[in-house]
Amino acid sequence: MKFYNLKENDEQVSFAGAVKQGLGKNQGLFFPTELPKFSESEIAQLLAMPLVERSVKILHPFVAEDLSAKELTNIVTDAFNFPALLQPISSDRAVLELFHGPTLAFKDFGGRFMAKCLQAFCKKEAVTTGVEKKLTILTATSGDTGAAVAHAFHGIDNIRVVIMYPKGKISLLQEKMFTTLGGNIETLAIDGSFDDCQVMVKQSFDDSDLATTIGLNSANSINISRLLAQVCYYFEAVAQLSRAKSDLNSIVFSVPSGNFGNLTAGLFAKAMGLPIKRFIAATNANDTVPRYLETGEWSPHETVATISNAMDVSNPNNWPRVEHMLKSGIVPADCVSSVSIDEEQTQSTVIQLAKLGYISEPHAAVACKALQYSAQEGEFGVFLGTAHPAKFKEVVESIIGQPIGLPKELADCAGEPILSVDMSADFAQLRAYLLAK
Ligand SMILES: *Cc1c(COP(=O)(O)O)cnc(C)c1O
Repeated sequence: MKFYNLKENDEQVSFAGAVKQGLGKNQGLFFPTELPKFSESEIAQLLAMPLVERSVKILHPFVAEDLSAKELTNIVTDAFNFPALLQPISSDRAVLELFHGPTLAFKDFGGRFMAKCLQAFCKKEAVTTGVEKKLTILTATSGDTGAAVAHAFHGIDNIRVVIMYPKGKISLLQEKMFTTLGGNIETLAIDGSFDDCQVMVKQSFDDSDLATTIGLNSANSINISRLLAQVCYYFEAVAQLSRAKSDLNSIVFSVPSGNFGNLTAGLFAKAMGLPIKRFIAATNANDTVPRYLETGEWSPHETVATISNAMDVSNPNNWPRVEHMLKSGIVPADCVSSVSIDEEQTQSTVIQLAKLGYISEPHAAVACKALQYSAQEGEFGVFLGTAHPAKFKEVVESIIGQPIGLPKELADCAGEPILSVDMSADFAQLRAYLLAK
């Protein structure tokens, strides 16, 4: 299967091309030329399979040009070596916990899959050309991408990773998780917002001299490999539900959204035939999308800082993919609604869930609250738990008024020194830094 550029439709690349390039010409996003559609009986067969075997079946049509089923199986086995767990909350609610990977966030699924794919492509290229090319992964993070990408690529030969993040705008533990690794992982603390960081990434890709000199690649959620990996856990959620429930036609996913990669993956799953009734895109005060769906006007405001900081995005970079699917009929135009949840509602939902015996964190709480607002009679709601509560320890403890433990992954890095370099939100400085080494 090919992937084409949503802005410059003539540009078509294979899966390997799309993964290596990240963004297409004119900053266009890559999109599959066709989404495979499974029949009802094929879906039933898929749902009966274990995670890795099923994920290989789901992903193979997308990657077949570049990876054999065996190569893909090795990659998926390595990448998805932790579970996605569906936890019941009440008779018509459950949370899909996606944070059981090495950096305790759902981004481990996409980050690990992408790293293993790139590693495989680099090795193959070295074998066919006899030259070992160096790659630079440049990425911006509002918190969790940094950790997932850093851990996924740490120690991989010939890949240099440079991660930018808004200084002082992510939690200390989040920062510790990716700024303490060293080796091939370099981190830049930018004096600005996440959107500023994201703009600098885009400027770097537009600078073709720079991009070719350092073999530039992005691991942001614009990379199609990350989205494809995320399709697999929607299938996993429905598979787990199907063991407990016979009616699968009433499932609603509430997705805590920042860059809207997670929602994009859910829409892929629906387009491929997975029985999902509809989606709720839950945002925090950064409400560009809910306002857009209501008024038809795209008018991002200045990004505001919230306690669900991984969603502090006012110009979500995956939105063109969502919009394309809604407008071209790949998914029904009315299958996505969007709700903005404020800080007070977020906190009260964390408390409400704690009273039910479930310790959550602000991102999951935003999705849970959005579900409470818009769920209809007879629907079964699943909200996505995108991060482990301990990643937001200070905030969660102050909301619920009781201490929560640190899992081993966080305790290990909490005492390590931060190795970041400070930089202003200035592309010229970034360019010089990237070329200096
Ligand atoms: C990245 C992130 C999100 C937002 O996901 P998108 O795919 O960017 O919409 C939500 N919650 C957490 C914890 C995250 O790290």
